[in-house]
Amino acid sequence: MTKGTPSFGKRHSHTHTLCRRCGERAFHKQKKTCASCGFPDAKMRHFNWAHKTSRRRGLGTGRMKYMKNIPRRAKNGFRAGTTPTPRVRGDKK
Ligand SMILES: [Zn+2]
Repeated sequence: MTKGTPSFGKRHSHTHTLCRRCGERAFHKQKKTCASCGFPDAKMRHFNWAHKTSRRRGLGTGRMKYMKNIPRRAKNGFRAGTTPTPRVRGDKK
């Protein structure tokens, strides 16, 4: 068997499978780590010499479930748990 076309038919096994954090097929099945995002590490794998990849999966590329509310909450100094003062209809100031 040669290294060319006939051998390619024998390639069945995958070392990596889909990562459930980043979606890349980079999760090593035996090592149990993602080669792309570093899952299950708490922090995303990134390098300062790779700017393009950071842009694709950095801050602001996802839902920003917590971070998107920070500017609005900062406007009133993170006040929470208070009841709003009732607004009277027709009371324009
Ligand atoms: Zn990943």
